[in-house]
Formats: sequence, structure tokens, C-alpha cells
Amino acid sequence: MSSSHDHADDSEHEGPLVLAVSDRHPRVRTIQVVRPEAQDTTYLAATAKGFGITLKHFAKNLFLPLKKLSGRANAGAPVEERFRNDIETVQYPEEKVTYPERFRGLHRLTLRDDGSTRCVACMCCPTVCPAHCITIIPEESGDTSIEKRPAIFEIDELRCVVCGLCVEACPCDAIRMDTGEHAKPVEDRARAIETRETMLARGVRSIATQGGEGPNWRATAPDTKTDVNR
Ligand code: SF4
Ligand code: SF4
Repeated sequence: MSSSHDHADDSEHEGPLVLAVSDRHPRVRTIQVVRPEAQDTTYLAATAKGFGITLKHFAKNLFLPLKKLSGRANAGAPVEERFRNDIETVQYPEEKVTYPERFRGLHRLTLRDDGSTRCVACMCCPTVCPAHCITIIPEESGDTSIEKRPAIFEIDELRCVVCGLCVEACPCDAIRMDTGEHAKPVEDRARAIETRETMLARGVRSIATQGGEGPNWRATAPDTKTDVNR
């Protein structure tokens, strides 16, 4: 392949220095790769800059409250108000912030009227779960009207992304995320796994009709026909 090795004029181009351009296509070019200098690859400057920012915040948090303290004393504020620290620190677990209303919390499995789990091990929730953190091993339920129930139902809370898709997918209102309970801190991974028993212990009776309303639901449903011409 022949190529012209005409050197391009640097002043006319932005970007890397073009050393040569192909005769066949102007976009096939030889460019000069600019390697970073040694001082740019040590990250020392960036580290020093980050350390400086940290020190600045540390000094601000240490001395600004003292400045405010003397200001409050001069203004005649009561003693407890004078020593109020404006640094936003929550002394967890003694203090807890109020979670927003839409906070979901840990999962729970709901119960039938007889206290058994409503889950029929249909596998909809592990199928939809984007984090693949639900493990269900089904077994025969022993009830001729219900095919299966979960022998093992586990959720790895360290992998769960709290998306709520398992709740949306469940056809039986068998799993919910409405406990408002924060996941507990754990020291080993196995303790972060919610089991069927722990989720049933948070269980509530569901008022949803188990298995739907049967094949006659159309007869009792309100008229929901849509006008296709609308
Ligand atoms: S909330 Fe989302 S990630 Fe967590 S178990 Fe349910 S589907 Fe999976
Ligand atoms: S919790 Fe609901 S979606 Fe998940 S397996 Fe049980 S019945 Fe199916």
C-alpha cells in the first residue's frame, strides 16, 4: 500500500499530531501518541490536592463550631443551644434517621388464614430478579388444591438491589417489601441471607384472594371494555 508521508501542519489541526495520511483514504492516518510524563503518572499532585481538600473540611468542621459557639454565647443563647454541633453526624445505632415514606425495607412472606405461606413456588420472583439473589427449592404442598410450596426460600440481602420487582411479579401477594426494617449489619455473608423462616416471622395475613377469583372473574369484574376507536 502506498502512502504519502506528508507531514501535516500542526497549527491547522486540533488533537494528536498527524504524521502521515493514507493515499487510499484520508481517514487512515498515522498519529503521534503522546505518552504522559513521569510526573503525571505518579499521581502525587492529585494525592496532595485530595489530602488538602480533606484537611480543609477537617479544619472547617473543627473550628467553625467553636466560632459559632462564641457567637451564640455573645448573643445570649441558652447553654444547650450554644453547644449544639452543626456537623451532621448521626450516632447510629443509638440514633436513627427517619426514612422516607416510600422506603421498602426487608422482605416478608405473607400468610394464608391457616397460617401457612401463600407462596406457591411459581418461580416468578427468582426469574424476574435482576440480581439473581432469590433461591427457591419447591416441594409438594400436600394440599391437593395447591401444587407446590417453597421448602427453601432464601434472599441474599447483600446482592438485593431493592428494586421491588419480586413483589410486582408475584401473582399471589406472597412476598412484600413493606416492613420498613433496615437490613442488619453482619460480619459474614451467610448472616445476610434471609430465610423462609425469618421472612415468615415478619409475615402478615394477606386479604388478597388466593389464586384469584377463579374462572368466573369476568362475570363479576366491572366493565373494563376499552373503546378501540377512541
Ligand atoms: S427487590 Fe429486586 S433485587 Fe431484591 S430480591 Fe426482589 S427482585 Fe431481587
Ligand atoms: S413469592 Fe410469589 S412470585 Fe415468588 S415464587 Fe412465591 S408465589 Fe411465586
